[in-house]
Amino acid sequence: MSELTDLYQEIQTCQKCILAQGRTQPVPGEGPETAEIMFIGEGPGFHEDRQGRPFVGAAGKYLEELLAQIHLTREQVYITNVVKCRPPGNRDPQPDEIAACRPYLDQQIERIQPQLIVTLGRFSMQRYFPGASISRIHGQPKRVGNVIYYPMFHPAAALHQPRWRTLVEEDILKIPDLLAKLDDVQEKEPDVPDAQQLSLF
Ligand code: URA
Ligand code: SF4
Repeated sequence: MSELTDLYQEIQTCQKCILAQGRTQPVPGEGPETAEIMFIGEGPGFHEDRQGRPFVGAAGKYLEELLAQIHLTREQVYITNVVKCRPPGNRDPQPDEIAACRPYLDQQIERIQPQLIVTLGRFSMQRYFPGASISRIHGQPKRVGNVIYYPMFHPAAALHQPRWRTLVEEDILKIPDLLAKLDDVQEKEPDVPDAQQLSLF
């Protein structure tokens, strides 16, 4: 069995935070172990909690539409959340819950080694852009080593806010270029130092 499958099994019985009490089932995440792109959302909602799969409600449908704009399907990318169990009534995940769940996300990232990590909404953004404001930094990639971190608005928020919807659609369209630049550098200069890589963006 793969490490990811082992991890999913561990999550199934996890009791490390209070969110275990209200869940129908955990939602570990899904996608190929070889995915180049990982999307990190906030936490499962009603439908995700019922089905045990991430982004299967209205926000998920919209995420699929966004992916289609860059000729990707959800099966080609890895999709997960900062907390794997549904916060009651879809309240915000609390710092202690995010911290308790963090080792699972860490292991997913380590195993999949995505080239591009797209954060959806504030909670996953905070992991890589602490203290930042999403309205200021959305759509601005940050490169660290061979990984690009790319903050976007949460699709659920964008669905209800026409202004953000335009922005989220502009931001998704930049992804193919980001990946192309990364491939370029990796092919030409595999050992290029970090500082030089950062100046590319
Ligand atoms: N919103 C999220 O942040 N994650 C999901 O999985 C579904 C909706
Ligand atoms: Fe465990 Fe994460 Fe679920 Fe909390 S949210 S019970 S840490 S899997």
